[in-house]
Amino acid sequence: MNCSKCIQMFDYYSDNIFTWCTNCGNYGIFSAVKRALVAEEIDPKDALLCFDIGCNGNGSDKISGYRFHGLHGRVLPFAAGASLANRKIKVIAFGGDGGTLSEGINHLVHSVRSNYDFTFILHNNENYGLTTGQASLTTRKGKPMNAAPDGVVVEPMNVMEFILGLKPSFAARAFSGDVKHMTEIIRAGIKHRGFSFIEILQNCTTYNAETPHEWYQERVYDISKLKGYNKADLESAKEVSKDLEENIATGVLYEDEDSVDFYSRLANRKGTQTELVDEVKNYEIGNFLSRFN
Ligand code: SF4
Repeated sequence: MNCSKCIQMFDYYSDNIFTWCTNCGNYGIFSAVKRALVAEEIDPKDALLCFDIGCNGNGSDKISGYRFHGLHGRVLPFAAGASLANRKIKVIAFGGDGGTLSEGINHLVHSVRSNYDFTFILHNNENYGLTTGQASLTTRKGKPMNAAPDGVVVEPMNVMEFILGLKPSFAARAFSGDVKHMTEIIRAGIKHRGFSFIEILQNCTTYNAETPHEWYQERVYDISKLKGYNKADLESAKEVSKDLEENIATGVLYEDEDSVDFYSRLANRKGTQTELVDEVKNYEIGNFLSRFN
C-alpha cells in the first residue's frame, strides 16, 4: 500500500524540549494521544488540541498541529465553542484536576449536561503540580501538601462518581502507565458522538509519592474483561467506579451509543449544510468608527 499520505506519528512530532519531571505520567498520556490521532487517521490540520494551565498544559508545546492554551480551569468553554463553530475538525481538550475541579467545575458540569461534541481528557494527578504541589479536590485526606503542611482535612472527590451523577453520554477511566489501553480508550472517545469524558489516573513522581506508577499498576483492571459487564448500564458504571483503593476499574465504564450531541438538537441548524465558521460575515465599520476620531 502506498502510504505516502498516511498520517504518521511524525506528523504530530514537535522538537520542543520536554519540561516534565522524570517518569511523569504525562509522557505516557501524550504518547497515547498521538497514537490515537494517528490510528484514527486524523490529519493535524483537522484537529484542534485545547490545553488548560497546569503540567498537562505544558504538553501544548510538545505536539504539532493547531493548539490553544487557555486560562486556568477555562479550557472547556473554548473547546465547546470551537467544536460548535466548525464540526469538520476533531476537538480534544486537556485539563488537570486542579483547574477543572475548582474554578472550572461549572464548565465541566455544563459540558457533560450539554453533551458538546468533543473529547475531554482529565489528567488526575491528585494535586496542583505546576505550582509545586498544593492540594486539589482529589488529594487524599491526611496527605501533607504545600500550603497544607499538617495534612488535608477533607475527603477527596471521586471524579467518576461525580460525572456519572450528571448522566454523561460517555465516561471512561484510564491509567497513565498503560499506553496501549489509553490509546484504545481515547480512540473510543474520539469516535463517540457527544461529550466524551476520560479521566486518566496520572502518576506524579514529584508531589505524589503515595500513588506511584507501581501502586496503580497493581490495582487497575480492564472493565471490558469483567464478565457480563454492560457499559450501557449507568447504574453498573456507578457501582464499579466507587473503588479507588483496591480494585480500580478502567476502560469505557459508560457509553450511550444513541447519544445526540448538543448541535444536533438545535432546531435552527437542522438541514444546514454549512458550518457556523463558513457563515461569518465581515461588516464595514470604518464610517462608524470615524465619528470618534
Ligand atoms: Fe509530572 Fe508531577 Fe512533575 Fe507535574 S509535578 S511534571 S505532574 S511529575
